[in-house]
Amino acid sequence: MSLIYLDNNATTALDSRVLDEMLPYLTTEYGNASSVQHRWGRKANAAIQQARLRVAQAIRAKEKEIFFNSGSTEAINTVLKGIFELYQVKGKHIITAYTEHKAVLACCTYLEKRGAEITYLLTDSNGQLDLSALEREIRPDTILVALMAANNETGVIHPIQQIAKITNAKETLFFCDATQYVGKVDLNLEQIGIDILCLSAHKFHGPKGVGALYIRRKTKPTQIQALIHGGKQEGDFRGGTYNVPAIVGMGKAIEIAHQALDSTQQSVGELRDRLERQILEHIPSAAIHAQDAQRLYNTSNIVFKHTKATEIMSRLREVALSAGSACVSGDRDPSHVLKAMGLSDDDAYCSLRFSLSRYTTDEHIREALSRIIAVVADVRSQSPVWQLYKQGLID
Ligand code: PLP
Repeated sequence: MSLIYLDNNATTALDSRVLDEMLPYLTTEYGNASSVQHRWGRKANAAIQQARLRVAQAIRAKEKEIFFNSGSTEAINTVLKGIFELYQVKGKHIITAYTEHKAVLACCTYLEKRGAEITYLLTDSNGQLDLSALEREIRPDTILVALMAANNETGVIHPIQQIAKITNAKETLFFCDATQYVGKVDLNLEQIGIDILCLSAHKFHGPKGVGALYIRRKTKPTQIQALIHGGKQEGDFRGGTYNVPAIVGMGKAIEIAHQALDSTQQSVGELRDRLERQILEHIPSAAIHAQDAQRLYNTSNIVFKHTKATEIMSRLREVALSAGSACVSGDRDPSHVLKAMGLSDDDAYCSLRFSLSRYTTDEHIREALSRIIAVVADVRSQSPVWQLYKQGLID
């Protein structure tokens, strides 16, 4: 068997039906969607509007609430910087959590240098937030609460409905990074009072470099300062020539993902659960992070005590996994998410993330399991640290 791809929280394979729908816009239908004076432009424009409708329908929003962009990193920058700039009269206080994506944390560091006051919420060892702490931390000058729907490293799901209730009651804005959630879990924005939300096509078998921002308009118009100024695209909110093929691809990808939601949840959930059961059964001193929390059905983050994730991965060349650690200028930092959950550096370095998709098969899981069981045993057999641990001489 060739490559077994279990790194779907990093990115997913493009669905061939998505590619089919994109192809005309990469070849014959090359019009600029803003050039509506001629047929090519109108065709491209209509394709963008169809994609907007598909995205809106999938998350139960209105088309006018959807703004296309290059993906969630751009969305996060737009929201944090744009809200900070526009809401300074109200205040400069933003609430987020230590376990958020690096894009959120890096924007917060940037804004702190410009006078923002950031409160970072803690989580428990299962990655769960304390909602009473959130409630306590919201102040009259709090301009934004930025909390993700599901964590990319552990799969832990935040109670977004309850968070929205709190932020709405306190009249502060709730920005939800739903990059890992949309396309995997049903989301009904008619029922959840989220003000701003981002999604990214490459996480649900769409193309890379395209995403969307949902900005609630229905009940209360949310204002955000634009980040990218240019033409009048997206109602003057996000300038730049439309990436028509990518936007078309996102529309198709979200439609397919939502049609397949129940069956994917069932089949992928079963595979993930089996993977976890077998690892715990066959590999000593392995433990699943956030096992007791509500998690995405496709994600599993597992520590293999005293067995470095990088060593396991280097010997598992045909299995794509993630060590869940940020690589900054060649330095490997232990995962900030696992650290925030109270893990030691050593346990964080010994943790591997498995993330499945609707393309993961029974055969993939069986084969991956047999390779991982063998590799972990092999790495440990040559490890003096593991021998010390086994003899009870170290923790
Ligand atoms: N937020 C989360 C939770 C993610 O998992 C990712 C991607 O890994 C991002 C944001 C950034 O998304 P993008 O790749 O679209 O910039």
